[in-house]
Amino acid sequence: MRTPDPAGAPLLELHGLRKSYKLGEVDVHALNDLSLTLRVGEFTALVGASGSGKSTLLNMAGLIDEPDEGEVLLEGVNVARLSDDARSLLRNEKLGFIFQSFNLLPVLDVGENVELPLLLRKGMSPLERRDRVDQALEDVGLGSLKKQVPDKLSGGQRQRVAIARALVTHPALVLADEPTANLDSETTHRIVDLMIDLNAKRGVTFLFSTHDEKLMQRVNRIVHIRDGKIVNGKVP
Ligand code: ADP
Ligand code: MG
Repeated sequence: MRTPDPAGAPLLELHGLRKSYKLGEVDVHALNDLSLTLRVGEFTALVGASGSGKSTLLNMAGLIDEPDEGEVLLEGVNVARLSDDARSLLRNEKLGFIFQSFNLLPVLDVGENVELPLLLRKGMSPLERRDRVDQALEDVGLGSLKKQVPDKLSGGQRQRVAIARALVTHPALVLADEPTANLDSETTHRIVDLMIDLNAKRGVTFLFSTHDEKLMQRVNRIVHIRDGKIVNGKVP
């Protein structure tokens, strides 16, 4: 396991989060007094069984959903105090997202998919957008496929496009929900190599959920979640 940088400043702080969903008559406690701090530069795996609350946690961290109780602080800012618009802006500026099913738009080519999050940046010129897209595609090794449509790509290439789209805004934190679950093991290792490289060379902080035991050896921090709570050490 690689060693984390202990000097990293707190980037994301989750304090006492609770979140329930109504399932018919039953309340499902997806998060149950969950607290977690991520620091700048960490590469963290979030590990837990299906239904343990990984996606719910990532949705809270990603400002996609709000907790019933508890606080989410991003770079020290309590996001609950922000207006919806300010929260959307913060999400676009600070966070990148990678999903299990890639979530690319099939009618757009690779370059256009990667450019999408930049279209929300009012002040950014088309020239700067193009440079950012080219750099992000270069970073994930897809410089030559800019004009290709997603349907023509392999699963590994699609996930690289999604990683480029997550990185193009230069986010402080990238959240990845089981990003390798739909990939074969060789492709999985290449995608993880890429993320580790981006973490080491570009200082991108990652939080990604996974089931994959083999990947856990390669990160600098493992956080186990069980029944909506962070548990230390191995989950039996
Ligand atoms: P994981 O990603 O670890 O599989 P989730 O965060 O998706 O776990 O789910 C945690 C728990 O919350 C599960 O019991 C799940 O069934 C429940 N849950 C998640 N989202 C919803 C929802 N939209 N409606 C009802 N229950 C949900
Ligand atoms: Mg999930």
